[in-house]
Amino acid sequence: MTALTYRYVALTDTGLRRSTNQDSGYASDRLLVIADGMGGAAAGDLASSEAMHIIRQLDRDLDVDALDALEQSVKLANARLGELIRKDPSVEGMGTTLEVMLWDGEKFAVAHLGDSRAYRLREGTLAQISTDHTFVQSLVDEGKISPAEARVHPHRSLLLRALLGRDDNSADLSWLQPRLGDRYLLCSDGLTDMVTDDVIQQALAAETIDMAATELVRLALEAGGVDNVTVVIAEFVEKGTDPDEHLSSFDGQPQLVGAAAGQARPRTGAAASGSDPSPSFDPEELRYAPRPPGRRRWLRWTAAVLVVAGILTAAGGYAYSWSQDQYYVGAQDGEVVVFKGVDAKIPGLTLSHVDEATGIQLTSLSDFQRQEIEDGVEASSKIDALRTVADLDVATPTPTPTPTPTKKATPRATRTTAKSTAADVAWLR
Ligand code: CA
Repeated sequence: MTALTYRYVALTDTGLRRSTNQDSGYASDRLLVIADGMGGAAAGDLASSEAMHIIRQLDRDLDVDALDALEQSVKLANARLGELIRKDPSVEGMGTTLEVMLWDGEKFAVAHLGDSRAYRLREGTLAQISTDHTFVQSLVDEGKISPAEARVHPHRSLLLRALLGRDDNSADLSWLQPRLGDRYLLCSDGLTDMVTDDVIQQALAAETIDMAATELVRLALEAGGVDNVTVVIAEFVEKGTDPDEHLSSFDGQPQLVGAAAGQARPRTGAAASGSDPSPSFDPEELRYAPRPPGRRRWLRWTAAVLVVAGILTAAGGYAYSWSQDQYYVGAQDGEVVVFKGVDAKIPGLTLSHVDEATGIQLTSLSDFQRQEIEDGVEASSKIDALRTVADLDVATPTPTPTPTPTKKATPRATRTTAKSTAADVAWLR
């Protein structure tokens, strides 16, 4: 078998509608990474860059199995997010997607979590090799909607899994065997929400991977650029091939782009420092951003009474813990939200909290559905609750005026060379 190596490039752009870049990208001759942060402007970039700083510690000689090392690194990154959230509750709800390929000299160890994607271009044909951890993908898998319908679904940005600093969201881990001539693309949803796979296939086949990266980012901006867009590309060549001096990877240096390449902004408690100029509802930012609990509906009294009674007995802990594994769809501040817990209000006891905001206004529903939601709709699981949300008949809202893009639709490279710091290494202890 021909010994292989690869050339690489990483490129990002904040896009035309956002003021900050919450994506991070990394490419080197051993490691390719995309981390798309979420949780509002105040925390998304923190989640993305903290995860990136831990994952890129893998870019060194490893004396263990690459997949084991990758799994361990994802767990460390998750623990780090959990630690940050415990220290500063204002960043609760932040998280990041992860798409990682770690080269062991013969094959890639791959980790996937969230809706950033990995594609392979082989002999001119594009194949998506990751499966989105999204609500709409679960509907596609069950044959309820087509991939084309998923692209325009109102809840397409709802994630079912991401790196959130909790222990209930693990990454998909697998091995990948590249071939000579293969090109691999890792990208954030800022690309795939904007352009179709056909367009990606054509652009990814550009003469060089640097041209392909520039073209992909340009196409996302041209299509609206509503989100940060980040691409990382690798192209397999025979080991020993002379480096191409026209490529950005000619110098052999790692490329780090986006949030992880910038200075971390100081955080002073309230996560309200975001100044995104986007309209009031931004589905991307609400993907995992909880809001403070508000008023509850007067339902499920039986369960509530049992919990209270239970608290006075030895069964209290169990009853309470059971109540916190329940879900329902309800309303808060005029918006449809998914609650975790039971729908009842007991003085001095919080039995539910917002698990997922949907961005759907009650005013966009029929009177009947609005009443149903205000009363609370029980669900057997989170996915069941999201299905209830997806089944709502939402009236098309009056278009919100959007700011005229002032930036030129040309990608700006914000690449810097990655260097390990003492602080980075300290986290690995
Ligand atoms: Ca994104």
